[in-house]
Amino acid sequence: MKLKDVWKKKEVTLSFEAFPPKKDSDFASVASAVEKIAQLKPDFMSVTYGAGGGTSAYTGKIAQIVQAQGVTALAHLTWVSSGRDRIHHELDALRQAGIENILALRGDYPEGYDPSAPRDYRYARDLVEEIRAYGGFSIGGACYPEGHVECPSQKEDLRHLKEKVDCGVDFLVTQMFFDNSALYSFLYRAQQVGITVPVLAGIMPVTNAAQMTRILSLSGTTLPNRFRMILDKFRERPDAMKQAGIVYAAEQMVDLVANGVRGVHVYTMNKPDVAAGIAENLSKVLGRT
Ligand code: FAD
Repeated sequence: MKLKDVWKKKEVTLSFEAFPPKKDSDFASVASAVEKIAQLKPDFMSVTYGAGGGTSAYTGKIAQIVQAQGVTALAHLTWVSSGRDRIHHELDALRQAGIENILALRGDYPEGYDPSAPRDYRYARDLVEEIRAYGGFSIGGACYPEGHVECPSQKEDLRHLKEKVDCGVDFLVTQMFFDNSALYSFLYRAQQVGITVPVLAGIMPVTNAAQMTRILSLSGTTLPNRFRMILDKFRERPDAMKQAGIVYAAEQMVDLVANGVRGVHVYTMNKPDVAAGIAENLSKVLGRT
């Protein structure tokens, strides 16, 4: 099913993100985790794409596992390590595999990457145009409620986002955030510049305090004091941290749904118990009996 049609029928969606294995030997365990997450019957599941090329071969395979469970897959695709030929090869493969939805991204720069070197694409919007011209896919894009780390101002970032949407983006998925007021402010400003596509809120249930440091430095996401206190209190007690992380994320989502967000997209880190915790906590809130 093409995702652009989902929000014509549904007021709010629940979706999960999974990531592919880094090496062959991890494939079976990742496939099993993804199957379990898909069995919770989210509205769709996204599968990330390794910008360095390392895990990219698995994205389509994991997306097929999602669809075999009867759940629509959204395959991420980045151009940062690929030229036009490789992108066309990926698009052919996704089409053949029956994948109809792509999250079109630039990708994180791999180490030692020279962004100024000449390439087939410059921004994610160039990939959006390429996929749109290729045809047959519903296309999503990334957005950043607190602004993209490389962009000097939120205003400029929003202007670029509007250009990206105008190239043919059907829906947006946000970077994770821990303070809902950041999203509400972003949605207001997005509306003001004429962005009208559904914006799905990216929510990360933090279950491991240590992994947060790297994620936060990459994403530029800020931590509200309330959440910092939770990390400080429970970082040495993994079970308590996991429980607190799920409850915090669920509370964020209840507030988001109450305020009319079109979808919550949960970064599950391939943990079926975390996805199940969220799905159970929100079943009535999301109208999923
Ligand atoms: P772009 O939209 O190209 O934006 C990148 C920067 O360029 C921004 O600062 C923007 O303001 C600026 N810009 C855009 N247009 C212009 C212009 N015309 N002139 C000047 N500046 C401009 N990474 C992966 O490697 N694999 C994944 O699977 C993956 N999944 C993600 C999923 C989500 C929901 C999100 C939010 C991010 C994901 N990322 C992933 C990370 C993403 O690749 C990085 O955040 C990357 O730095 C930017 O990607 P983008 O698609 O937003 O790029």
